[in-house]
This record gives sequence, structure tokens and C-alpha cells, in this order.
Amino acid sequence: MNPLEATRAAGESRLAQFLPHAGADYTDWRNHDFGPNGDNRVSGLSPWLRHRLLTEEEVIDAAARVHGLTGAEKFIQEVCWRSYWKGYLERRPVHWHDYRKTLDEALTGIARDKRQNQLLLNALEGNTGIECFDAWVDELIQTGYLHNHARMWFASIWVFTLALPWAIGADFFLRHLLDGDPASNTLSWRWVAGHHTAGKTYLARPSNIARYTNGRFNPVDSLAAEAPAPPASDRPPLQPIPDEPDFELSETTGLLITEEDLHPESCFGERHWPLVVSLQTTGWRSPLSISAHVQGFVTDALVDAMTRNPGVQALGPIDLVDTAAGDRLVELLQTAGIGTLVTPWVPAGPTADALAAVEPILSAVGIRLVKVPREWDVTVWPHATHGFFRFWKAVGPMLSERYAAFEA
Ligand SMILES: Cc1cc2nc3c(=O)[nH]c(=O)nc-3n(C[C@H](O)[C@H](O)[C@H](O)COP(=O)(O)OP(=O)(O)OC[C@H]3O[C@@H](n4cnc5c(N)ncnc54)[C@H](O)[C@@H]3O)c2cc1C
Repeated sequence: MNPLEATRAAGESRLAQFLPHAGADYTDWRNHDFGPNGDNRVSGLSPWLRHRLLTEEEVIDAAARVHGLTGAEKFIQEVCWRSYWKGYLERRPVHWHDYRKTLDEALTGIARDKRQNQLLLNALEGNTGIECFDAWVDELIQTGYLHNHARMWFASIWVFTLALPWAIGADFFLRHLLDGDPASNTLSWRWVAGHHTAGKTYLARPSNIARYTNGRFNPVDSLAAEAPAPPASDRPPLQPIPDEPDFELSETTGLLITEEDLHPESCFGERHWPLVVSLQTTGWRSPLSISAHVQGFVTDALVDAMTRNPGVQALGPIDLVDTAAGDRLVELLQTAGIGTLVTPWVPAGPTADALAAVEPILSAVGIRLVKVPREWDVTVWPHATHGFFRFWKAVGPMLSERYAAFEA
């Protein structure tokens, strides 16, 4: 059973409930993690935002209209962190590919080292003897969620106390988080481990954990006292942001729905498509198995998006487990007379990897796949070149102007 309902309506209702708290309440209490059954003041919106059942832009819009940009600035900034990480990875997709390579190497390496392998098993089973860490493993597996501060502490303990490879920790998150996201997850783990900002790592301190868990945990003398930075490496060159593609919707244009963007109607309008097909690519998130919660959330979310975007024919969700599924897809498209498939932009990550395997099969039979970027992405991604501070310096004033009328 999924812990959360994977529909846009459920996301909208959660947003509506949270909105009154998106101002001072969030500003004052967002760093506190009172535990899975505690009175946490964060929104819990990330599974919907991650899959774009809700878009960043509409959540920002809703918060700014209630509190003004100034009143909801902290919350809006956090939503912008998602856009920043997405843009950052889009401009440097090599970080995703490097992560997958590092993960494969780490998994192979650790399997050969009995002692390290046992340490890893203990960590994955929540059996390290570090009370807070073991509780977070349990919470992650049971609920598919961890508070942002717990994610930071968890990743820091994984890397600096347990001395385990960061990429296996990132993969563990990606397999279990309902919001598991190639950009936010990979880049946050890189940031904690010191690969994002030269010379900067994140050290989890017992006093900080005690304070922000409201005394639930106090791991004195259990954690590494230092978090040494790895050697700095060069930033890879920036890739261009996506161009607006040249295409027209016609009678032979089908809609492709992927788990990267489940609100295609805000890209293409409400239409009755000749064909709607949805592909599930959750299995591409990891070489290991993905939790049933995550698989189920995505399947339900794809079904929900198909319900909102009807077609004369509707196919899916098709689980794109391998390219044989791509061959079957081509057959279906040809039978339906589809010449072009359009889809909202698919950013760097597992779905883009899966589509890269399918695209040659489509183009071999003359079917064009057109990925359409959103205005929000092409507006903010150009600023995701360095740190978040520089990003916000460009995006903050733009939002400030847009929501000037809503200031108290
Ligand atoms: C090691 C690590 C791994 C992470 N992995 C993921 C991941 O796989 N997927 C994911 O969505 N987030 C990830 N995050 C970011 C963040 O922890 C979650 O987005 C946030 O905890 C979601 O909870 P919420 O919706 O209650 O957040 P709120 O505090 O209510 O924030 C509102 C929204 O802002 C965005 N947001 C908030 N903080 C961040 C942040 N630091 N980075 C990016 N976006 C943010 C999210 O969309 C969130 O739903 C990770 C952070 C760390 C430190």
C-alpha cells in the first residue's frame, strides 16, 4: 500500500492545507524534524513536485499570493532549490553519468571486501548501533520520506562516520524516496561529500541533531568529528539550455507521458489526443531494485496523468524494462498512425537514459520524438551555473517584480 495518494488532486489538497503555514511558521520551524509522527512544519509536497504532478511555478505562485514574496521567501527559496538543482544537472549532465559509473564501481568494489560489505549491510538494514541513523533507515524504508535535515545528517554520517561510498548512499535514497530525484539527490549527496563546492563538506554534529530533533536523538561520541574535503576537481563545461523545438500539433501527433512531468496539460493545453501513451521508467533509477512504494506511487501517478489527458487510444503505463518494450511501442504507434510523439522536456536522469535507448528505434521507422521545455525551466536554468546564491540573485528579483502586488 502506498503511504501517499499519487494524484494531482491529492497534491493540490496538500498544498491548500499547507499554504497558511508557508509564511512565518515555515520560516521559524522548517529546520526542526520532530519525527515521522511529530508536528513537522514542512510541506511534504516533494513527491508531487518531483514528478510534476504539481509544478514549481504553481506552488511558488500559490505561496506568493497568500504571503507575498517576502512573507513566504524561505519556502519559495526552498522550492527554487529544486529548480536550481534541476538546472544545474541539465547544464552539467555529466554529473549524472559519472554518478552512475561511480555507483557501479563502488558496488563491484564493495562486494569484494568482506568487512566493508558487512558494514554496508548493517547500514542498509539500520543495524549500525547509531540510534538516530538506524531510526532514519527505518523511517525511509517505511514511509519513503525523510526531513531535509535528517537527509543531511544521514548522508554525512554515511560518508564521514561509516566511511561508505557516497554513491551507494545516494542510490539507497533513490530506491526508497517517493521524491527520489536525479538532480536534487545526486547533487545534494555530492554537496555533503564535498564534491560540489571545492573544500566544503557537511559535518553532522551531535549538538545540532539534538537541537533540531527536539532531543529525540543525541549521538554524543558516536559521530566523526571531522569531514575532510576530497581533492577539488574541475567543473565540467556548461551544456546549453534546451531550445524551443520546431513542431506543430496535428492529427498524427501523440502525447507521451513520462514520470518526469505529469502535468502535460499545462504544456500543451487540454486536448483530446489521437493517442496517449505513458512509459514507466522507474526501474532505470538504479541497478538495484526500487522499493514497491516508489514503483506504486509512479504507476498511480502515470494513470492519474492519463486520466487528465484523454486520447482516442490510451496505452500504458508501459514499463520500459528494456528495449524490447521499445519495439512493442513502435508497433503500437505505427498501428495508430502516429508520426510524432510530443512530451514535456525530459531532464538528465533515468528517464532520459531510457528514452535515449528507445529514440533510435522510433526514428528508424520515421517517428519523431519532440521534447518541449517549459517556460519556467528555460527562464531559470540559465542561472544555475554556480552556487544557489548567484541563482537566487537572478531569480529572486524576477519573482519580486511578479508578486509586488501581493506584499503586505
Ligand atoms: C542528501 C539529500 C538528498 C536529497 N534527495 C532528494 C531527492 O531525491 N528528491 C527531492 O525532491 N529532494 C531531495 N532532497 C532535498 C530535500 O531534502 C527535499 O526536497 C525535502 O526534504 C522535501 O520535503 P518537503 O516537501 O517537506 O520540503 P519543504 O521544506 O516543504 O520544501 C518545499 C519544497 O521545496 C523543495 N526543496 C526543499 N528543500 C530542498 C532542497 N534542499 N533541495 C531541493 N529541493 C528542495 C522540494 O520540492 C520541497 O517539496 C535531498 C536533500 C539531501 C540533503
